[in-house]
Amino acid sequence: MDLSSGYPYWNVKNGLLGNYPILREDIDCDVLVVGAGVTGALIAWTLLQAGHDVCVIDRREAGWGSTAASTALLQYEIDTELQDLVDMYGREDALLAYRACAAAIPALARLAGRFRGVEFRNAKSLYYASKWHHQFRLRREAALRQAHGFDVRLLDAEDVGREFGFTAPAAILSAVAAQVDPYQLTHRLLAVVARRGKGVFDRTQMVEFSPKRGSVHVRTDTDARIRCRHLVLAGGYEAQQYIDQKVAANRSSYALITDPVPEDLGPLKSCLVWESSRPYLYIRSTADRRLLIGGEDDRIDIPLRRDARVLKKARKLIEKTRALFPHLTLDPAFAWAGTFAETKDGLPFLGPHEQHGPRVHFAMAYGGNGITYSMIGAELIAAALAGRRHPCASLFAFERLRRR
Ligand SMILES: Cc1cc2nc3c(=O)[nH]c(=O)nc-3n(C[C@H](O)[C@H](O)[C@H](O)COP(=O)(O)OP(=O)(O)OC[C@H]3O[C@@H](n4cnc5c(N)ncnc54)[C@H](O)[C@@H]3O)c2cc1C
Repeated sequence: MDLSSGYPYWNVKNGLLGNYPILREDIDCDVLVVGAGVTGALIAWTLLQAGHDVCVIDRREAGWGSTAASTALLQYEIDTELQDLVDMYGREDALLAYRACAAAIPALARLAGRFRGVEFRNAKSLYYASKWHHQFRLRREAALRQAHGFDVRLLDAEDVGREFGFTAPAAILSAVAAQVDPYQLTHRLLAVVARRGKGVFDRTQMVEFSPKRGSVHVRTDTDARIRCRHLVLAGGYEAQQYIDQKVAANRSSYALITDPVPEDLGPLKSCLVWESSRPYLYIRSTADRRLLIGGEDDRIDIPLRRDARVLKKARKLIEKTRALFPHLTLDPAFAWAGTFAETKDGLPFLGPHEQHGPRVHFAMAYGGNGITYSMIGAELIAAALAGRRHPCASLFAFERLRRR
């Protein structure tokens, strides 16, 4: 699977941030993490802090999977609104998911703050009604969130016009959100694992794994054998191949970054913007005054067809953004596309699957808020390995598919 096309901005901007060798020898470790994207890096680092002997392998260059393509808005507001999640799982579980996501953002901020050179900024998030009739569900959503202690403000059309300068019948302004350079964060975390753990190896593919009674045996395409007590599959969207059950659908998402914008970005400096239509348009700024714009998702799962659409999709994204902010000069610098996977309820799958037993842990941080889920995944898997049950363990388990 070709996970991205075009020029993902983070790779262009940062270049190669780390050099990791190919694994050529057999090794033993407590935990093998397969996947050196942001999910694998967060999990490996968290497990290392918890005292485990951790090794990471990746078939590509580290951080060059979906992580490089991510626009990296960090939001607790997942693609499924709280009111819909309440309908699916009841109030208690829906709030559990939303609260876990809200807690993951300051957790990511603390983590990024430990490293020099990780671009991370706290922000607000504006979710606006892009169709007139969407305002009614937005009002219900805002009331529900307020009733349960989420720091949100409902904006009417006049507020949106005055504070953001565009027209929308209503919007929800959330105080908790952030934006990050996911590639920098991934490499800073991996550098620690490479130094203090059992090692980080890229261009090394897991070709086979077999769970045994007290361990898991893995073979790589470089003919190395790895014996570990636990295997974490943080292989991004490609990890779906390891279970027979279909748990998600692949989509393509499109993104672009502009040249630095000469005009004052106003509220966009510190606020992410996204809309209520699906697929949604979303906009954030970067530290060097560019706009990072994404959306136009479609069901294309064939990289060549996706590649052919990048420029057309980028033009559409620019058009939509100009309609909102006509005073800004928006010159696209790079455009790209990436695969992402969507679950039916918008929640991730974190934990073991019955097909492989308790020593093989999946970290499928799928959905528009993948990075927030990656952070929860790190805490959840660390808790499982310590024999503790994370509060979200059953909601984010594969077993929830039987509840719906
Ligand atoms: C265009 C786009 C925009 C996005 N915007 C956002 C956003 O704004 N906010 C947000 O939170 N999320 C966003 N996402 C989603 C986010 O990018 C992902 O959730 C996140 O990057 C997934 O990270 P990962 O580490 O799980 O996957 P990846 O980065 O893909 O890493 C998985 C790694 O596993 C490796 N691998 C797979 N199989 C094997 C194997 N057998 N052996 C060895 N290695 C293997 C791959 O090579 C890969 O490097 C976006 C995604 C796209 C495509």
